[in-house]
Amino acid sequence: MEIIKSIEKLRKVLWEHRKAGKSIGFVPTMGYLHEGHLNLVRQARKDNDIVVVSIFVNPTQFGEGEDFDSYPRDLERDASLCEKEGVDYIFAPDTHEMYPDGAPLVYVDVLKLSDHLCGRFRPGHFRGVLTVVAKLFNIVMPDRAYFGKKDIQQLRIIMQMVKDLNFPIEIVPVETTREPDGLAMSSRNTYLSPEERAVAPRIYESLKEGFQIIKDGERDATKVVEHILEKLEAIPGARPQYVQIVSWDDMQPVKELKDGIYVLATAVFLGPARLIDNIRFKIEGGDVDVY
Ligand code: AMP
Repeated sequence: MEIIKSIEKLRKVLWEHRKAGKSIGFVPTMGYLHEGHLNLVRQARKDNDIVVVSIFVNPTQFGEGEDFDSYPRDLERDASLCEKEGVDYIFAPDTHEMYPDGAPLVYVDVLKLSDHLCGRFRPGHFRGVLTVVAKLFNIVMPDRAYFGKKDIQQLRIIMQMVKDLNFPIEIVPVETTREPDGLAMSSRNTYLSPEERAVAPRIYESLKEGFQIIKDGERDATKVVEHILEKLEAIPGARPQYVQIVSWDDMQPVKELKDGIYVLATAVFLGPARLIDNIRFKIEGGDVDVY
């Protein structure tokens, strides 16, 4: 495994592989890797000849007052985890390599799909994500790129970018990896105190309870959301930012649940950490299933 920090060097080595007919799988991350990231890497390892993991804490996707400076970083530890998983290249550019002129003058942005959920509360976040992912796609030129369903709005928006801008890349969604107690794995879980960590699984439990109500036949989205909100507000120290049910196609909130694909999602502040989680599901006739 090789750690490469220069765009030019990475382009050169990947060009040789591409010329030799090798397929390239790409896993973009902000590092401080956990099992969730590693499951993306394992899927990429299965599907491709060459696996590239990028580790870059991207400043353009953090808002003012967010945790860019305090975001955990440990390249040495990440490299040893990647090596064990058979990664071929880590691309770990510094900020100047990615943004030599400071903040870019040209961005990739999205309409509509970022109106709700995290997009509503993190203005400019998805613009920063799309811009860096587009840059990374142009640098790595992978055949496949792997994204976690934990960041479901991000996944939806990246799928749209690839479609609308004709990136010749297959986006592969990967299931959310959870701790044994159900908490979705996240680099930000390291911000939690032992007390906060102990109650954090109640976020996913609340979503599951809401999902069960839908399975039991409730079709009024507002009632489901209210029930979940009540559960979240009862978690000591938790401050829910949103709970919403949106349609998968346009990421707009729905009132009545009919046949279709939906995302039930929340963001909750727990101490200093902003934690997100979701359940994507499909309603077909009377059947409601995780999707
Ligand atoms: P991040 O480093 O948090 O930007 O995440 C990099 C990639 O890993 C994104 O595609 C995330 O959706 C994915 N990811 C992060 N946490 C998890 C998890 N618990 N399960 C599955 N994928 C995850």
